[in-house]
Amino acid sequence: MTPFRMGGINKFGGTGKAVWRGEIDGVTISDLLAAWGSPLFIYSEHTLRHNYDNCLRAFSARYPRVQLAWSYKTNYLSAICNTFHQQGALAEVVSGFEYEKARSLGVPGDSIIFNGPYKSREILRQAIADNACLHLDNLDELFMLEELAQEAGRKVAVGIRLNFDTGYTEPWSRFGFNVESGQAMDAVWRIQSSRQLRLRGLHSHIGTFVLETKAYAAQAKLMCEFMRLAEEKTECRIDYLDFGGGFASMNSLQGVYLPPDQVVPSLDQYADAICDVVLEMTHEREAQGLARPLLIIESGRALVDDAGTLAATVVANKRLPDGRRALVMDAGVNLLFTAYWYNHAVTPTAPLEGKPEETVIYGPLCMNIDVLRSQVMLPPLNVGEPLLFHPVGAYNNTQWQQFIEYRPNVVMIAADGSTHLIRRKEDLASVTAQEELPPHLAVAFGKNRPRLS
Ligand SMILES: *Cc1c(COP(=O)(O)O)cnc(C)c1O
Repeated sequence: MTPFRMGGINKFGGTGKAVWRGEIDGVTISDLLAAWGSPLFIYSEHTLRHNYDNCLRAFSARYPRVQLAWSYKTNYLSAICNTFHQQGALAEVVSGFEYEKARSLGVPGDSIIFNGPYKSREILRQAIADNACLHLDNLDELFMLEELAQEAGRKVAVGIRLNFDTGYTEPWSRFGFNVESGQAMDAVWRIQSSRQLRLRGLHSHIGTFVLETKAYAAQAKLMCEFMRLAEEKTECRIDYLDFGGGFASMNSLQGVYLPPDQVVPSLDQYADAICDVVLEMTHEREAQGLARPLLIIESGRALVDDAGTLAATVVANKRLPDGRRALVMDAGVNLLFTAYWYNHAVTPTAPLEGKPEETVIYGPLCMNIDVLRSQVMLPPLNVGEPLLFHPVGAYNNTQWQQFIEYRPNVVMIAADGSTHLIRRKEDLASVTAQEELPPHLAVAFGKNRPRLS
């Protein structure tokens, strides 16, 4: 099989004409780069809101009680978080930092879901005081929470994270309590027999970029069975089932040879897989006059990835000894962390002349690993010409690193077409702001300044 390549020939034939894109939401790329510099991350507020609505619609059309939660670690730029909060998303956080960030954006504790394997005593204490929705990951955390609830003098309702084998995904057994071994039911017993705690919800997050919708049907079945058993065995009443995220975005995973529009399920297909099972397995609750559990979805990648584009500029052309053409760009893996596992689409901003050739795209870092695309068909490009990398909205503006280069501006194009800076580019002062120089190291050289000649 021939790997899918943008603009290349594959088993589905050539793409006919070269693809290019000159604007985002009506704003031209050249105007954006002139105003904000290169490289530049560009977000579409319209796409963010549209994706949120589409996800909510897909689930709400199939199940009566649905709530979305925004996964902060996927992209915690304040403007992104608040766009989703304005749409109605809870905050889903996995660390003390993310918790504090959500609170500082004005999200009340009881609109925050606090996941993750490590929550410090201090942050747990605050989360209890704020009435946040805590999801327990392990027994040590459970014991600590009991102590803190006692200290606070009240009963705390919690959720637990479950892990299990769906048969379709690598079991992420390091997070939460295992179902098959009986550990998870033990945790339910401990919570329900505690005077300080009450179980109110079940959570699981089975993986990320999961292309198989059957995995979600299996997850739904396991969660519903566990809920039924837990309610039968103990006196608990489960208010919600939280299915985590993991839905794939329209990106090309390296090693997956078909293009994303042929392998990535739609949100409707994911929703079908989950809702069919939950509807059927909670049917008897409705018959008993009880509410069906609230269904929580923590989709990250699928909501934000295609709303983000990286515009970068060619800084040099090269011919490699093996004959391949190479480009050096002003953006590399320091900014595009996801280049390690995706083949991002690479799109010129104007029609290009000349014969497409297999090209390697390097970043600006003086590091051999700095490769944005190891092979892509592109016509010749001149120094100064921009290329767009897309979709890049998920996990890049959180996992990027200040390494060798400054991180660039990030802008958002609002619904009315106006452009807003949402993260200012770094400079020497911002990068060194946290550093301290001990007095005896205050100057670089004393009398013995080294010289090259
Ligand atoms: C990362 C994460 C998500 C979001 O995952 P995506 O793959 O981006 O959809 C949701 N829930 C939890 C607990 C997570 O850790």
